[in-house]
Amino acid sequence: MATNPSLGSDASSVTGLPDAVANQLLHFAYANLTPMLGMSALAGLGGALILSQDGATWPWLWYAAMLALTSLRFLGGRRFQRDITVEGDRNSRRRWRRQYALGLYASASLWIAPAFLVAHLPSTIEYTYTIMLSALAAGGTGIVAALLREGRVYIGMMLGPPTLLLFWQADGGEVMIALGFAFLLVMLVVHARNHAILRKSVELQLQNTSLVQDLRSLNTGLESKVAERTQALLDAANHDSLTGLPNRRGLIAWMQVHLDAARNQTGAVLFLDLDRFKQVNDAMGHDVGDRVLLIASQRLAEQLPANAVLTRWGGDEFVVVLEGSKNLQATAHQIAHKLVHAIGQPFDMEGQTVSLGLSVGVSFFPTDAVDHQNLILAADLAVAEVKRNGRGQVFDYCDSYSATQKRRFDLSRALGAAVDAGELQVHFQPVVTASTGMVHAYEALARWQHPELGPISPDEFIRLAEETDRIVSLGDSVLRQACAAAASWTTPTSAPKVAVNVSVKQLREEGFALRVMQILTQTGLPAARLELEVTESLFADAHVRTTRDTMESLCAIGVSFLIDDFGTGYSSLSRLQSLPLSAVKIDRSFTSDLGGRGAIIVESTLMIARRLGFSVVAEGVETSEQADALRAMGVDFFQGYHFGGPLPAVAALATSGRTPVLSDPGIYQRTG
Ligand code: C2E
Ligand code: CA
Ligand code: CA
Repeated sequence: MATNPSLGSDASSVTGLPDAVANQLLHFAYANLTPMLGMSALAGLGGALILSQDGATWPWLWYAAMLALTSLRFLGGRRFQRDITVEGDRNSRRRWRRQYALGLYASASLWIAPAFLVAHLPSTIEYTYTIMLSALAAGGTGIVAALLREGRVYIGMMLGPPTLLLFWQADGGEVMIALGFAFLLVMLVVHARNHAILRKSVELQLQNTSLVQDLRSLNTGLESKVAERTQALLDAANHDSLTGLPNRRGLIAWMQVHLDAARNQTGAVLFLDLDRFKQVNDAMGHDVGDRVLLIASQRLAEQLPANAVLTRWGGDEFVVVLEGSKNLQATAHQIAHKLVHAIGQPFDMEGQTVSLGLSVGVSFFPTDAVDHQNLILAADLAVAEVKRNGRGQVFDYCDSYSATQKRRFDLSRALGAAVDAGELQVHFQPVVTASTGMVHAYEALARWQHPELGPISPDEFIRLAEETDRIVSLGDSVLRQACAAAASWTTPTSAPKVAVNVSVKQLREEGFALRVMQILTQTGLPAARLELEVTESLFADAHVRTTRDTMESLCAIGVSFLIDDFGTGYSSLSRLQSLPLSAVKIDRSFTSDLGGRGAIIVESTLMIARRLGFSVVAEGVETSEQADALRAMGVDFFQGYHFGGPLPAVAALATSGRTPVLSDPGIYQRTG
């Protein structure tokens, strides 16, 4: 038999096929059942009519049996359609297939039964009946194509036995038998072909469906993945990865939706700025800094009402948006003070205690501004004002802050131009030896006269310069002028030092040591007469290594270093010891508080300094009582209005011809 090799014994059994194909084929078989039964009922009627031509009644009984079987098979088919377990369940599929086969074989048996009885019938009836059976067998090649084995048996039953029975003893019967079997063979081949085609189409269809399904699930997978990813990106873009809070973008997006659209509502914006965070970050590293920020953000969140929005604006700045309420201003202040208190509690970072503070600026919607940009700007201006006024407080925005901001902007630009044009002046304030009253050094203090605004306080323009990094060129200019002036002070009896304030930002510069050496050479000032004043923020600087290298190379040529404003900043005794220092300058806030805590600070500073071999300078000495008390405590040098304020160009004094002038504190007056 020329069957397709793929239709092997496996293929002949539905159970040998993949479940899905076998299921589908069985479904096809059952789907064809009703037309098959209809045809059977009709053909049976025809058969009964032909067979009863000689008046026999049995064909009608036969037909009744045929109808009964047809009905049974029909009901079985209906039950199959309702049986959902057939899908995927091998056993139930086998049962249904067996039932189908049984019905099919029973019906084939009924069809061939008359062949055993019609031998005595006229040959025309025999032929007609044979043609009917052949037609039914031929129909079977298509109608039972779904089931290979059952189809073969059916076709074999319909053609084999009747051909033999009817023509065995007939005239020319051999020809009919040969023809019958040839026809049977052809029918079997056709049936196998039909089955193969049907199976292939089922397989293709299933492949298609699964392909479509795969594609669909791939697509939906892709789509949802893309959607997820987009959302994640959006979230990432709108959220801060460290604290998980919305970031600047997130806040603006939120405010655009909730605030700008809600013109008839009220609200408050709290701009929060951590105090001293930079020092912690620089001194303890960014990892600790990050953890401190995270804890700080959690503390803030705990203090806020549920409807408040907390966001990380950037760095150590947070922004809170409060919804409008009855006493909004009072509520906002109450919350702000709670936040200040929460951040003021010490942070325990692996045994080390970190203390931070919080400055808060508040603006109100819609009184201060009606859009989110200006609302945030107003709160930002308010917090900047807090920072300028000693930190750790809560300020509401007021219109003058805008003016302050404008002034800062204008001053910053004018300062740059003044530094570049060499318009900055330097004044000198004496530092006297406590025991002799002779001038030990002069501290160089920058002075700036704005063409329209008049003299600007160093506290203001130095801070501005620090913020904008202009301090490097400013400091360079002061250093040059100071060294140049000091070089001309030498008298036969005295050669006071010059003390120049140096910003940590200058010290951090790679070529700073070289720059100082150049200036010393150019001005002719001996290195030993230059003293550089640095603040305690030096200890908190992340670049302390570069700084120390710079300090050491300058010390090597004779330049000395002093810690300024000692006691106000971030003190680290271990680092105090590790740096090449020669003196500490006690801040004037302690000098002015000698009756209180100041005395304790001075005494303990003296103790540490003695241990480390540093000399001690007390600044801000304004009265003789202060000088006496400090002298009794053991302070080495004094600086302050009592001994003389900063004066313009000491060189001018020198040219006045009074040689002891530099050690005569009496001639100094207060200028700063
Ligand atoms: P500082 O280094 O602590 O300088 C001493 C400040 O105290 C000066 O203020 C001085 O005028 C003031 N002062 C002196 N004696 C007394 C006194 O008896 N009582 C009181 N209440 N104050 C006294 P000034 O000149 O306004 O400078 C302020 C700060 O600006 C300086 O504080 C210093 O940190 C900074 N600064 C000034 N010039 C420069 C500079 O060229 N470079 C850098 N980096 N900073 C500078
Ligand atoms: Ca100083
Ligand atoms: Ca000082």
